[in-house]
Amino acid sequence: MNSLEDIWGAAYARLTSMFTDVIVDTWLSGLTPVELRGDTLVIEAPSNFVKEIVEARYHSMIVECVEGVTGFRTYVSIRSNEDPTAPLLQAQAPAPATAPPDEPPGGYMAVEGYTFDNFIVGSSNKLAHAACIAVTDTPGDAFNPLFVYGGSGLGKTHLLFAVRNQMCRKDPNCRVVYVKGEDFVNEFVSSIGTATMSKFREKYRLLDVLLIDDVQFLAGKVQTQEEFFHTFNTLYEAKKQIVLTSDRPPKEIMPLEERLRTRFEWGLMADIQPPDYETRLAIINRKAASLNMVIPPEVSEFIADRLKKNIRQIEGAVKKLKAMHALEGYDINIDLARETIKDVLSDNMPIGVLIERIIAAVAEFYGLAPEDLLSAKRKADVLLARQAAIYLMRENTGISLKKIGEIFGGKDHATVINSVRRIEKELEVDPELKNALSEIMSNVRNP
Ligand code: ADP
Ligand code: MG
Repeated sequence: MNSLEDIWGAAYARLTSMFTDVIVDTWLSGLTPVELRGDTLVIEAPSNFVKEIVEARYHSMIVECVEGVTGFRTYVSIRSNEDPTAPLLQAQAPAPATAPPDEPPGGYMAVEGYTFDNFIVGSSNKLAHAACIAVTDTPGDAFNPLFVYGGSGLGKTHLLFAVRNQMCRKDPNCRVVYVKGEDFVNEFVSSIGTATMSKFREKYRLLDVLLIDDVQFLAGKVQTQEEFFHTFNTLYEAKKQIVLTSDRPPKEIMPLEERLRTRFEWGLMADIQPPDYETRLAIINRKAASLNMVIPPEVSEFIADRLKKNIRQIEGAVKKLKAMHALEGYDINIDLARETIKDVLSDNMPIGVLIERIIAAVAEFYGLAPEDLLSAKRKADVLLARQAAIYLMRENTGISLKKIGEIFGGKDHATVINSVRRIEKELEVDPELKNALSEIMSNVRNP
C-alpha cells in the first residue's frame, strides 16, 4: 500500500469507524488527499472553516489513523482550497501562449497578501529578500538564476509571489509565469507525444520571468529534467530571469542531472533560515493587526517562544486564536494560546517522545539520572529538577495534570499543580531559571 489514495482510503475507513455519521458527513467526508511528500501527508479541506474545525478537533485522530496505516511517524498537514494561493494555482492550467501575461488581469491580484511590503525581514531571510527585490529591479541580470532554499513555511512561496506581483505592477505586459515544480512535471508529462507539447514549450520558453516553486520535485524525473534543461538554456541565453525555490540546496536534490545542478548554482543561492525571536514576534503582531485583533504581549511572547521553525504554523496559531475568540468568545490569554498550539507542538514530535526527552533533558541539565526524577527522592536538587520537568510538561505537551501525575509515580492533581506554581513563582524572581528552562527545551527539540 503506497499510493496516496490507498493510504488515505484506509486511514479514512479507520477514522469513520471512530465518529458518528453526523460528524463524518459534516467535517470529514469533504477531506481529500493531495500529496504524500516524504513523511508528510497533505489533506485539503473544502473551506477555511472546515479546515479550522478539523484542525482543532480531529487532527490528532487523523494523524493516529494515518500512522496506523503507514506504520511510521507521519505528519498531517491540512490546507484549505480557499487558501490565497488556490486561485493562482488554478490559473496555471496551460493558457494560450498569446494571453498576456498568463492569466486575465486581476487574476494575480488574488494573492495580494504576498508582497514585499508585508514580508517581515530579519537576519534569517534578509539575503533572500534583498535578492528577490534586486531581481525585480534588474531582471535577467546579476542574479540569474536566483535559487532560494529553506525549510517549509519560511516564506519561499511568499517571495516568489512578491516577485511576480512586483513585476506585473511595474509592467503589466511582463510575461511572468509562476509554476510549482510538481505542476511543471505533470504538465510536461501530459503533453508528451501530443500536440500540446509545442504549447508547453511556447508557454515556458517565451517568457520574461519564470518562477518555479519547489523545484526539488524535479528530482528523479529524467525526461522533465531534460526538457527543463532546454527551457532553462533558452531563457538564460535570452537574458530572461529565472527564480527557483527548493526545500534544500541543489547539491541535496537527488537524483538531479549534473548539468542542471551546476546551472542552479550559476547565479545566486540564498538560503532562508528559521526566524529569530524578534522576527517571530513581529510576524505575530503583524498578522494580528491584519486580522484586526489585539494580542496581549505575554501571549505573543508565549507563541514566539514556542513556534520557532515554521511561519505558517505561527500564522495558523494567530488565526486560530482569532477564531476561538470571535466564534466561541474565549479571552485571548496564555491558556487559550497553549490550547491553540498544542496540536502544532505535538505535531513536531510524538507526544511520548516529547515526554521522554523532557525527562532526559532535565535530568541531564541537573546532572541527575532520569530515574531520580521519577523516583520519590526528596533531596533539594532532585525536587527542583522534578518540579521543572513537571512544569515543562505542563507548558509544552498539552497533556492533563492527571497524566503528568501518573508519569511521576502517581502524584495527585494538587501535587502537580503545586510544582507548576512553585516554578512559576521562582521564575518571577530568578532570571537564571528562565534561561535554564529555555536551554532545556531547546535541547529537547534539537537533541
Ligand atoms: P514556504 O513556501 O517556504 O513553505 P510560504 O511562503 O508559503 O512558505 O510561507 C508560509 C506563510 O508564512 C505564508 O502565509 C507567508 O505569507 C508567511 N510568511 C513567511 N515568511 C514571512 C515573513 N518573513 N513575513 C511575513 N509573513 C511570512
Ligand atoms: Mg512554498
